[in-house]
Amino acid sequence: MISIELAGETVLLHHDRALFWPARGVLIVADVHLGKGSVFRRSGIAVPSGDTLADLGRLDNLLAEFDASALWVLGDLVHGSAQPDTPWLGDVRAWRQRHARIGMQLIAGNHDRQLDTASLGFEVLPGEQTRGPFVLRHDPKVSAQGYVLAGHLHPGVTVRDGRRRHRLPAFVFGPCVGLFPAFGSFTGLAHVRVEANDRVYVATPGSLLELSAR
Ligand code: MN
Repeated sequence: MISIELAGETVLLHHDRALFWPARGVLIVADVHLGKGSVFRRSGIAVPSGDTLADLGRLDNLLAEFDASALWVLGDLVHGSAQPDTPWLGDVRAWRQRHARIGMQLIAGNHDRQLDTASLGFEVLPGEQTRGPFVLRHDPKVSAQGYVLAGHLHPGVTVRDGRRRHRLPAFVFGPCVGLFPAFGSFTGLAHVRVEANDRVYVATPGSLLELSAR
């Protein structure tokens, strides 16, 4: 866990690709893509099941670790459409009921359009939302309203370990926009351009690695 200052606020970064804002008691993640494995299996691509339950379990652990009173998702809570009887939808609703006292808000992302995400128990908010000095968005576009927290890109950064190179998910905090790594365990990584003054925190399975400016 790493504590940093962002737009004058203290926030905690967790290596399991989440940010906690203590002043509001809120856990923030982006790009969860629940049900993605199911979408692939429906198209005949053999991927193991259990990805949704695994990711819900990761959220359980984070909500407990921080004793969070709210969860905000910066878009792409789900991966796409689903048949009403798809098992993972029931898993998500049961999980939501176990956390009935936690307020959950979703800034709707492009992947959230094909499913009624409100039926999963989230308050779905369109466009951008201002919270203190922060502007919550799905896509990382600069806003005059404040410091943007966004997802959408699924940023990955290459880390060299001797001769080996690893592409790993990362938080990338620029001067006006902070990019979140995709939370979902079954998501790809996009190469993002890191500028000289960006603060970059790479999520490895057990810790966060701060990349120093080159
Ligand atoms: Mn996404």
